[in-house]
Amino acid sequence: MKERIFLSSPTMHDGEMKFIQEAFDTNWVAPLGKNVDGFEEDMQAFLGENMHAAALSAGTAAIHLALIIEGVGRDDIVFGSDLTFAATVNPITYLGAKPVFIDSERETWNMDPKALRKAFDIYPDAKAVISANLYGTPAKLDELKAICDEKGVPFIEDAAESLGSKYKGRQTGCIGDIGILSFNGNKIITTSGGGMLVSKDEEKVKKARFLSTQAREKARHYEHKEIGFNYRMSNIVAGIGRGQMQYLDEHIRLKRNIRKRYEEALVDIPEISFNPYLSDSEPNCWLTCITIDRSCPVKPLDVMEALEKENIETRPIWKPMHMQPVYASAGFVKAEEKASVGEEVFETGLCLPSDIKNTDEDMDRIIGLIRRVFGR
Ligand SMILES: *Cc1c(COP(=O)(O)O)cnc(C)c1O
Repeated sequence: MKERIFLSSPTMHDGEMKFIQEAFDTNWVAPLGKNVDGFEEDMQAFLGENMHAAALSAGTAAIHLALIIEGVGRDDIVFGSDLTFAATVNPITYLGAKPVFIDSERETWNMDPKALRKAFDIYPDAKAVISANLYGTPAKLDELKAICDEKGVPFIEDAAESLGSKYKGRQTGCIGDIGILSFNGNKIITTSGGGMLVSKDEEKVKKARFLSTQAREKARHYEHKEIGFNYRMSNIVAGIGRGQMQYLDEHIRLKRNIRKRYEEALVDIPEISFNPYLSDSEPNCWLTCITIDRSCPVKPLDVMEALEKENIETRPIWKPMHMQPVYASAGFVKAEEKASVGEEVFETGLCLPSDIKNTDEDMDRIIGLIRRVFGR
């Protein structure tokens, strides 16, 4: 069997161990220390715009805290992306609040501003909006943010997949009232697991640090006025993050090369389209995805099976939340009465191997196999 080619796996360098070693040498083996502070500072510098950052144990934890900080509570309605990973919206349920899913538009596959506006007509009391930048592609962020501002509702930007993507020259994660980052194993940089909550509002970030360390009041004894969580990032994990930050630009460059390579190699197959983005966005190309025209006899499953036989990993598009059994009773709003855009992308699309460790030969092999499925 040929060696496995992954969808997107961790890419480590030589700096990470140096920071971990330093943590061991100084015995800062705890959810605080120089690496945690350093990782937050590195991220703040990378994002610019005077952003503040709190390093946490996971992106999901960051979303949970963001919703709490924005005042979401039991029975509140929260609008969430429909076409996304479940972690974008599950924390709504942790709080006993009620998610209502918003369909995607065709130009970025992300939350459709038209559908969001319609949702506010149906649920005028909605308390917050959380929207993902899918596969690294920025949503129509200004439009979504403007609607939220008009309604006086906070906009949480789930940038877990889009670290380093730019929207009108700005880093994603900076456009929402709160931004969310993830450093899970397959993300563009990884700490094995981890996340960050970022905001221009320093008070919100301070609140995240407070809630993530068991909500201890300033007192000699253990005084609690709020329910806290154990969500802070460990100093060991943050050491990996500091090492990875030195290679973030390099990872983005390689991810973009992968997409370009696929685009050039498959340009003569008109039934294939790539995940679209706006002309004023610069996606990090975390995963390169395609959709195949419904009229084409080749289906996404055919491509997935052909590659799987060669030990090459692919992945279906995220299954929309409104189609998930666990969310069968949740609301769902589409811009028009036609079939949902997210459902169509799910049915016609797939994610191609986008691992930055793939060699030129790996890419040639993957592309050759895809072309063969299409009879080229
Ligand atoms: C990975 C991911 C998350 C969750 O991040 P974790 O660090 O794995 O908890 C949230 N939203 C999206 C869109 C993701 O891809």
